[in-house]
Amino acid sequence: MTPLHERPGKPEAGDWLAEHEEDGQTFEEWLAEKPVVATPERDHLYIQPLGPFSKAEWRILTLTVDFMGRYFDLPVQVLPHLPLSVIPARAQREHPEWGTHQLHTTYILDQVLRPRLPKDAVALIAFTTVDLYPEPSWNFVFGEAYLRRRVGVWSMHRFGDPSESKQEFRTVLLRTIGTATHETGHMFGMNHCTAWECNMAGSNSLEEADRGTLALCPECLPKLLWATGGNARRHLERLAEFSRTNGLADEARFYAQELEAIGRAGL
Ligand SMILES: [Zn+2]
Ligand SMILES: [Zn+2]
Repeated sequence: MTPLHERPGKPEAGDWLAEHEEDGQTFEEWLAEKPVVATPERDHLYIQPLGPFSKAEWRILTLTVDFMGRYFDLPVQVLPHLPLSVIPARAQREHPEWGTHQLHTTYILDQVLRPRLPKDAVALIAFTTVDLYPEPSWNFVFGEAYLRRRVGVWSMHRFGDPSESKQEFRTVLLRTIGTATHETGHMFGMNHCTAWECNMAGSNSLEEADRGTLALCPECLPKLLWATGGNARRHLERLAEFSRTNGLADEARFYAQELEAIGRAGL
């Protein structure tokens, strides 16, 4: 029998674990941190579209909202679109070498999102197609989130052009739903996973993230279910259905195997 979850291989040069010391986080350690979890009063995920979107990029956003609803088993609501003019010139820049237009994450988190955080939000996440930087000395970040303040931001700028081809659309979709669920996992207090191949494993590059998996490992899935009040079977069934509908064959196969395994275990 092939195991469903595999232990991570030895990190390659430049990989996250080759450059960062991380111990991982057991379920008990996670719980002891008193992480942000969904409650009946605070059970919505909100997505804040920020800046321009092409038609294909908007389609990616819509599918990501669908995926997140299934993954977290919480209502996901898209807020009215905000223009880039909500960010002053001092919090935007052209990258000094590349000339790429970039937005300052800290401004978005503190000045755009925190004042708009709905009462019933367990998380509010801005989603943009413009590149991001966390501080002037950095080149860029894919995204940034506060672990306790319930706000986060990420960008699909570096994920490719979904209007280029069917194949590229699929790649951009996988990267976007992978990032969306990984980053929102951090917002539920989940640290990087070192125990298994897992969606909560850290990655240093797009190439490393592409080698990774969307699936949560046996240590991280219980954290997610505890944080959201979800159910493993429902989580897997709905993700399998999404994968089948959107041409993600490997993912559909994985979720089907996982369902079979929990069926055998009588769960
Ligand atoms: Zn991370
Ligand atoms: Zn994990």
